[in-house]
Amino acid sequence: MVQNRRIPLILIGLYIMTAIFSMSWLWQFSYQSLISSNQQELERFSRRLETQLQHFAYIPQLLSRQSIIFDALKLTADSAQRDIVNSHLASINQVIDASDIYLLDTKGNTIAASNWQSRDSFVGNNFAFRPYFIQAMVGKQADYFALGSSSGKRGYYFAYPVHHSGEVLGVVVLKMDLSAVEKDWSGKQQHFLVTDTNNIVFISSETSWLFRSLTPLSAQIKEQIRSSRRYADKEISDLSFSGSLNKSPAIIRLNTTQGIGGSYLSLTRNLPNIALQVRVLAPITPIVIDIAMLIAALSLVFILVYLVLILAGQRQSRIREKEQLQVKAKQELEFKVMRRTSALQVEVEERKKAEKALKDTRNESIQAAKLAVLGQLSTSLSHELNNPLAAIRSCADNAGVFIERNKIEQASGNLKQITALTERMAKISSQLKLFARKSDVELSVITLQPVILAAFELVKPQLKASRVKLSLNLPEHLIHVKAEPVQLEQIVVNLLSNAIQAMEESEQKEIEIKLWINQHKAQVEVLDSGPGIINADLNRLFEPFFTTKETGLGLGLSISQQIIQNMRGDIWAENSVELGARFCINLPLEKYIYPNQLNIQESAS
Ligand code: ADP
Repeated sequence: MVQNRRIPLILIGLYIMTAIFSMSWLWQFSYQSLISSNQQELERFSRRLETQLQHFAYIPQLLSRQSIIFDALKLTADSAQRDIVNSHLASINQVIDASDIYLLDTKGNTIAASNWQSRDSFVGNNFAFRPYFIQAMVGKQADYFALGSSSGKRGYYFAYPVHHSGEVLGVVVLKMDLSAVEKDWSGKQQHFLVTDTNNIVFISSETSWLFRSLTPLSAQIKEQIRSSRRYADKEISDLSFSGSLNKSPAIIRLNTTQGIGGSYLSLTRNLPNIALQVRVLAPITPIVIDIAMLIAALSLVFILVYLVLILAGQRQSRIREKEQLQVKAKQELEFKVMRRTSALQVEVEERKKAEKALKDTRNESIQAAKLAVLGQLSTSLSHELNNPLAAIRSCADNAGVFIERNKIEQASGNLKQITALTERMAKISSQLKLFARKSDVELSVITLQPVILAAFELVKPQLKASRVKLSLNLPEHLIHVKAEPVQLEQIVVNLLSNAIQAMEESEQKEIEIKLWINQHKAQVEVLDSGPGIINADLNRLFEPFFTTKETGLGLGLSISQQIIQNMRGDIWAENSVELGARFCINLPLEKYIYPNQLNIQESAS
């Protein structure tokens, strides 16, 4: 922002510096070229004027030596002689193209003139007052510029005395018209002036400046001019130029003009031997216009640069604002995400806690169900354990008697029987231990047939007590699934226990365990010959705590479903077409390993 505020100041500084430098350079350059071009014009103008003047300078001298002139001056009363002289002067004037040629006697009277036949004829006019006459009468060549007293035309006069026998008989005068000089120089941009020693304009390309002084004249000088009659009766007014008029080059100013129009470059040159100064005044307006245009162009460039910088600055600040908004929006979004994340984390934590609580409850429920199953099995188990215990006691007693009687062979037979009985008890105990484990276990690839056989082993006492006939229908090929064998065994035990309990009232007590491959899945089925399940209960069997038994917990099937689903399998119940209920488990198949014959028929008897 601070930088942005500095830009206009820097630009203004730069602008001022560039403007000053370029203005001064352009001024120097243009001023020098104006001087050089006008210096050339001044030289040309001066040369032309000199040439024109010199052209006539020696004519009076030549005429003064002609005998016809002497004669005319000597015989002033002879009119015939005068006519001859007049015609002579007229014919000469016609040839040299001067303004007028005339002859003055010693008193300044015009005795003959080239314009003798015109209305403004000089003949008879007296020019004794003219300085050129006075000077010529003392024997000197004279030249003079003045406004013609009778013609009213500006002229340059060359006078020469007519000498005869050491005396001056009269004066030959040639008047040259100067208006032709102006014609050649008019219409140009610069003004050409010829001024006298009093700075009075005598020749000028600007006609309104004629017979006016460049600077104010004192009353004394004005009086002198009036008495000399150089400018006839003209009132010499002041042009009011200011500046160094005597210097060349110089800048002078016409004060009567408003604005820059009155300023000129002034170049002067003095004509040799003539009291005239030639001056060229070139208006400096083009330079001023050039400088103004340069400044305008420079200003335009700087304004454009300034506008471009302003626009670029605005664009940058817009981009910055946009970026800030984006950053803000991003921060807000991040903040929202953080808030939502922390809320989700809290939610996840709560959910985890709830899941853990549910899992704990389930585990405990499983444990409770296991205990219930254990309680139901305890009677037959105690029977199973008491029988071998009683047998062990009697075998031990017998072995003692045989040792006393030194019948070692019989004693050894009894001890072997004891070993076999303890092995069977250890087996039962280990199965119970497995049953008591929690369900939080890892799955592994197992063979299904041994699991089913182990379950069968576990319920064997129950089958026997309830006089239930069980048939195993297992395939030749070993079927492998990914499961936890102990849990799967418990599930099958539970299904068998349920089937036994369902058939308590039935006359026909038969169970079939079937294992087969159904649609690329291993399917275990437990079929019984019980009463089956009423349709209303079919959908509710797997609900936790659903039971139709007085002492039942209603957890066995729901826990079984949970465990089977953990093994990516399914469990469902249906009524068999012929008789009783059918409970099915299917599990994703792992592989067959090798064929085996495992069709076993078992009965409770
Ligand atoms: P519980 O055995 O404690 O009741 P289960 O979840 O194992 O709990 O069984 C739920 C219910 O399913 C039983 O109460 C019973 O009504 C029904 N049931 C289970 N197995 C059979 C079967 N083989 N025949 C008929 N009904 C059965």
